Amino acid sequence: MGGGGYWLLSHPQSPVPDHWNPLRDLTITARVTPVTPVQMRRALADETQCRAALAGAGVSFSLVEDLIVDEKCGIAGRGVLSGLTTASVNGVETRCATALRLAMWEHHVVQPAAREMLDSRVRSLRHLGSYNCRRMRTAQGKDSGWSSHATADAIDIVGVELADGRSLSLLSDWTTPGPEADFLHRIGRGACEWFRVVLGPNYNRLHADHFHLQGPGWGYCR
Ligand SMILES: [Zn+2]
Repeated sequence: MGGGGYWLLSHPQSPVPDHWNPLRDLTITARVTPVTPVQMRRALADETQCRAALAGAGVSFSLVEDLIVDEKCGIAGRGVLSGLTTASVNGVETRCATALRLAMWEHHVVQPAAREMLDSRVRSLRHLGSYNCRRMRTAQGKDSGWSSHATADAIDIVGVELADGRSLSLLSDWTTPGPEADFLHRIGRGACEWFRVVLGPNYNRLHADHFHLQGPGWGYCR
């Protein structure tokens, strides 16, 4: 980028909208552009920026002391997440990066899908927790490395409550043809935009009842 280009982006009165400006911080509720992943990477790597992004979107994430267990388990940048941009969640201890990814998914995937496909909005997301000091589970029963849950870098989502009173769960609605199943399939696929590893009912029987949404990883979406 030439000097003029940098000035154009860095000037406080830059005519470039913030969501198109890679030098600006992430706004969760702003329209997604090709610049969003750049802003997102910065926010994920910086606790202060991450918390500012959550606060700016009205996400309820109250800081608590870091949880230090050992080198495998613990929560750095620990907080209690109890509300996303619109939907509520039952208070869950997690880290800022996981809350941020979840908020992006909720705002840009889950709520638009609910509006378009179910003519409602998601009132709350139901989960099975984020932090869990354990090794990975496999369908064969053997365990291998440490789970991303051991550092609260993942969260398991089991279903949603809609504003119109409907309650959807992966366990009972995933395979029943209809708009509810289509909605669940769409939000599962859409999670891959905001999490690096997404495992759901199509992956194996251990995930028949939830989406495993994991921040860091090798890019895997089933
Ligand atoms: Zn999980």
